[in-house]
Amino acid sequence: MEQGASMGSDPCTPCYTSNRDPRDYRNLIVLTLDAARDAVRRYVSSSNCCCRPRAEEPVIERVTQMPIYRYRLETFTETRHVEKICKPYTGQRIDAPDGNPQAEIWDIDVYTPKMFHEESKKFPLPGSGEVKMCPKCGGRGRSKCSGCGGSGQFRCRCSSVSRQKSRNKRCPSCSGSHRKRCSKCSGRGRRICISCKGEGRLLYSQQLVVKWKTLRSEVVSNVSEQGLSLPLILLQKVTGETMLMDDDVTVHPIAGFTDPPEISGTSERLIQDHRNVCGPSCHILRQRQTVEMIPIAHVQYGYRGRSLSCHVYGRERRVFAKRRLRNLSFSCSVL
Ligand SMILES: [Zn+2]
Ligand SMILES: [Zn+2]
Ligand SMILES: [Zn+2]
Repeated sequence: MEQGASMGSDPCTPCYTSNRDPRDYRNLIVLTLDAARDAVRRYVSSSNCCCRPRAEEPVIERVTQMPIYRYRLETFTETRHVEKICKPYTGQRIDAPDGNPQAEIWDIDVYTPKMFHEESKKFPLPGSGEVKMCPKCGGRGRSKCSGCGGSGQFRCRCSSVSRQKSRNKRCPSCSGSHRKRCSKCSGRGRRICISCKGEGRLLYSQQLVVKWKTLRSEVVSNVSEQGLSLPLILLQKVTGETMLMDDDVTVHPIAGFTDPPEISGTSERLIQDHRNVCGPSCHILRQRQTVEMIPIAHVQYGYRGRSLSCHVYGRERRVFAKRRLRNLSFSCSVL
C-alpha cells in the first residue's frame, strides 16, 4: 500500500451499504485446484502449437494464493462557468437586463443529473439578453464581397495574355470582354453578412455551462510484500470481491479497517486529494468508495515435460505468464 496521509478531520464510522467480515471473503477468493486447472487448461489450449492438434493435460503442482486489495474512490463533481454568446437577432422576445444584479451562478437551479453519469449542459441566463447593431456590416445585413472586392467582377486571365494572341482567338471564358462575373456574390459586389446572417442586428447574451464529471483514484495493496510479477495494469481489467461499499453525498475516511490496515490511511489521503482537486469552482455531488479483494494465485504446473508457472487473477480467472507458452520451444515429434 502506498503511504498514507494525516488529515485534520475526525474520521467517523460510515454507514456502509455492504460490509462483511473480511474473513468471509477468504473462502470466496481461494482459487481451488479445479479452478486453477480449468484456467491453465484454457490458457494451454489457446497457446497450442500447430503440430499438436490434441493438447496434453497440464498437471497442477502447486497453487499459492496471493490476493491483493484494491481501494477505489469516485467523486462525482459539478463545475459551472458563464459563457458569452452572440447570434443573429431575428425579432424574438428577449430577457432584457432588469437592473437587478445577476444571481450567483451556484444559486441558479438546474436539474439534478444521474449520479456518476458524465455530461455537459448549457442553460440561458435570464436577464442577460441585449440587442446591438452588427459591427461587421454596420446593420446593413450585407457586406462587401471578399472575392471581388465589391465590384461584382474581376479581370479574366486572358487579359494578361499578349495582345497578338488575344486578337487571333476570342477568349471563350469572357467572350472577349476581359471581365468575368464574380460567382461568390453573383455579380452584386455584396454578400449576406456572415455574422448576422443578413439580419443587421445581433443578440448578445450569457449562458451557464454546467459539466458533471467523475474523479477516479485507486490504489492496490500487498503488492510489494508478495513480490508480485503480474503487471498491475492488468488488474484494472478484472473485478474482485467487494468487501465494502460506501456511497453517500460525501464519504468519510474508512475507520477500523484492520485487514489490511493501510486501507484507512489510503482512504483518508485520497478523500483529501479529491477535495483539493475540486477547488471553489467545483462542487462534490456524490462520493463512492469501495474496497475489493482481487483473487490472485501463482500456479506451478507441468506440461509436456517442462515445469512452468503462471498467475491466475480476478473473478474472471484470467491467466498471465511471464514467458508466453507459444514462445517456448517444445519437441514436436508427433505430426
Ligand atoms: Zn464578388
Ligand atoms: Zn477572357
Ligand atoms: Zn452583419
